[in-house]
Amino acid sequence: ATPTALMVGTGRGAQLGILIKGPEVLETTRRVDTIVLDKTGTVTTGRMALIAVHTAEGVSQDQALRLAGALEHASEHPIARAVALAAAERLGELPAVEGFENLPGRGVQGVVEGHAVLAGRAALLADWEQPLPAALAEARAAAEAAGRTAVAVGWDGAARAVLVVADTVRTTSREATAELRGLGLRPVLLTGDNRAAAQAVAVEVGIAATDVIAEVLPEQKVATVRALQAEGHAVAMVGDGVNDAAALAQADLGLAMGTGTDAAIEAGDLTLVGGDLRSAADAIRLSRRTLATIK
Ligand code: ADP
Ligand code: MG
Repeated sequence: ATPTALMVGTGRGAQLGILIKGPEVLETTRRVDTIVLDKTGTVTTGRMALIAVHTAEGVSQDQALRLAGALEHASEHPIARAVALAAAERLGELPAVEGFENLPGRGVQGVVEGHAVLAGRAALLADWEQPLPAALAEARAAAEAAGRTAVAVGWDGAARAVLVVADTVRTTSREATAELRGLGLRPVLLTGDNRAAAQAVAVEVGIAATDVIAEVLPEQKVATVRALQAEGHAVAMVGDGVNDAAALAQADLGLAMGTGTDAAIEAGDLTLVGGDLRSAADAIRLSRRTLATIK
């Protein structure tokens, strides 16, 4: 291929808000037939808001928010930001965390005011033998059926609260999936979030129910990309999170949301600077045009 045309294409990309790591990336872009989209922070804004706090008997909402908020304050995850912000708004300054640990795609843990606290998916707490009491399990099921995300919170060995957070789909996502389809690509929604929330988003943006892969752990995101590749597909992956980095690297083409984490941006071949999913379609169009002029 002529390096000059590729360089020009790369420059044109920058004007479109697409940062391309190297000219050779445009060649891969053209071959892509499947595009895997991370849900939270990619198809959705990832700007979540806390909308409800359910607690076990004898636990106050403030206590649950204080411990979960302090812990989530140390995390970059969109869910964590929503919880920490709501806690700080309601309670003021939050206590410090010791021994903070991020469990990507699962949740967070640490010690707050002497309590060993866990916050994350209900399955995470179940793994730690902290099952949700019946009333909290019900609150969780209702939230998820409504397309929301439930965060389970436990401390001192028992699950004691469920926090409900809600996200909004980016206004440009529906148009973006239509454009990608128009370019001959199949969009697939991939998420660590619960199935009901994933299906609700899929319906909103026009992704087929059969192309929704939910409740996957970060390492399974890589496996999903690999499985599609094994079927003979050239796979693009769009993501924003630390949990997407390995899948972005595995994909034939990794596209990072510019609004996302540094880990995703480093792992990607391309960065969509403005965090607009329609730029993914722009990138495909650009590479096809660039390579057409070379021939
Ligand atoms: P996505 O694939 O949609 O970007 P993630 O893989 O980041 O989602 O997270 C998957 C699930 O793990 C979330 O829906 C949530 O239930 C849980 N989770 C991850 N990080 C956190 C956190 N910091 N606090 C609470 N829950 C979390
Ligand atoms: Mg994400």
